[in-house]
Amino acid sequence: MTRLHRLVGFLGAVVLGLTTVAVTAPAQAGRHTWPRGQVTYFDATKDKGAVAAAAAMWNDSGVKVHFRKIGNRRKADILIRNTHNVPMGCGSGYATVGYLGGRQGYVNILHGSAKDGQICAWPGQTLVMAHELGHVLGLNHTDRRCSIMNTSHTNGVAPTGCLGDDLGRPGRWWCRGPAQKDLAVLQKMYGGKAKPVRADPWCDAVPRIPASGPVTAVIDEYGGGLTLALSRAPEPALPAWLPEWGFGAPGYEVHVTPGACSATQGEDSTTVVDANVWTVPVGGVETVTTYAELPPGVSCVTVWQFDRAANYALAPATTLVTYTPEPLVRLAQPWADAASQPAQRLNGVRPAVVRFDR
Ligand SMILES: [Zn+2]
Repeated sequence: MTRLHRLVGFLGAVVLGLTTVAVTAPAQAGRHTWPRGQVTYFDATKDKGAVAAAAAMWNDSGVKVHFRKIGNRRKADILIRNTHNVPMGCGSGYATVGYLGGRQGYVNILHGSAKDGQICAWPGQTLVMAHELGHVLGLNHTDRRCSIMNTSHTNGVAPTGCLGDDLGRPGRWWCRGPAQKDLAVLQKMYGGKAKPVRADPWCDAVPRIPASGPVTAVIDEYGGGLTLALSRAPEPALPAWLPEWGFGAPGYEVHVTPGACSATQGEDSTTVVDANVWTVPVGGVETVTTYAELPPGVSCVTVWQFDRAANYALAPATTLVTYTPEPLVRLAQPWADAASQPAQRLNGVRPAVVRFDR
């Protein structure tokens, strides 16, 4: 490794993190790749869960790279530590880029806590750490597509280029980590065979409501009116770091499905008959009168609670109703009003966009 390469690698992280032109070509042409893709690290941080999760994202990628934790601080290829000398503050870090020819590289990241706000909480720390480890492997920034190497993340929820217009995901985070294209770039540098990334990029960052509260339903004689008694199950407390921009009021969504209990949460094109916010406290019973054009026979009423962060309960509550038309009476036309009023879940505050590093 020449002095020039080492200098480029070093500057790439600390000075040229944003302007990738100077480092993109040499690093991604393979000149800064780690021998056999092996990198040992010493974790001196308080973010050990985030470090381990981020290392696993790369280690499990199928590409021939491997981060291995060791207990000897001086012998480690990479020193990972918390430092206050992170220019962008909470939710950011910086790292050396690529193999440094035997010199010890590093990742610096600010340690977060609940007091720091959500951008320093573990989902954001994991994203930042995965990003910095991407630098360590020799990857540079890109903002042309969704990438763990985007220059910024949004509220510690997802790389900004991955979040797109979908801002309503507090309580969830972009656990996919590296994008498929990131792995393709890395595969060219190190070999191996990139695995398909997980299909659902989102994971829960906070507990869901385990199950929606029980429901009872009474059908009126015309088969169009339903009187529902919805019990409000407790919602897990949301941590202080969860972004305020996604908070709304908790509520419920009611579906009516002919024949069987096959409704899907959030699928509002055909079967949602009511969606609203609670007017009763936890443990209370909300009485709702709604309308659904029921066919004769059995229908399923399905209720999904959702929390302040607009995440649905893990399980719905269901009850069956049976509509038996009176054969000799000419019925008035039942109301066909879908009565679907999606709850207003966002309070309109803009999310904070934070750079991973500079
Ligand atoms: Zn970066």
